[in-house]
Amino acid sequence: MLAIQGDFDAHRKRLEELGAEVVLVKKPEQLDEIDGLVIPGGESSTFLKVLGEAGFEKLKQFARSKPTFGTCAGAILLASEVENPKQAGLGALDIRIRRNAYGRQLDSSIREGRFVQEKLRESPLEMVFIRAPKIERIGPGVEVIATEGKDKDPVAVRQGRVMATTFHPELSADTRIHRAFLDLVRNGRRS
Ligand code: GLN
Repeated sequence: MLAIQGDFDAHRKRLEELGAEVVLVKKPEQLDEIDGLVIPGGESSTFLKVLGEAGFEKLKQFARSKPTFGTCAGAILLASEVENPKQAGLGALDIRIRRNAYGRQLDSSIREGRFVQEKLRESPLEMVFIRAPKIERIGPGVEVIATEGKDKDPVAVRQGRVMATTFHPELSADTRIHRAFLDLVRNGRRS
């Protein structure tokens, strides 16, 4: 759990409820001790400032080799292309993402989305959006896990062992998204 900025505590609680052992990462070298990383919501530009160049590089290496899950600002950090304004991304997910894409009116909202996978599709997924970004392009290696709205905007995606949501699953009671990430971590440990 990256704990240098943003709303990491709700993620910590959720992951612990699901039986995971959580380490609050505040120093780059702690990344060597963990099997997977959650990058929480917050302000992606502030994350970049706090990380600095060395922290950014270390995080990039991590996301390349181990399961990583970004929510909202975390999703922005993981992207290969960031707009509004343009900003550096770790390039762990081949997506173009637009910051604060819903405008002032829709700053925050709770909406209902759907999983793509048939097994999970019948029950809707509550999604809390807070100054959310929008995924505008997904690369060929990126799988859409869940969509929202009549245009079926991708709001949860995965590429290999890297996952991202533009909403905040840690603020809803539904545990399916975190469970999907913990599955990636467990599988990563086995291989
Ligand atoms: N608007 C923030 C950003 O651009 C993300 C908001 C969030 O993480 N809830 O980084």
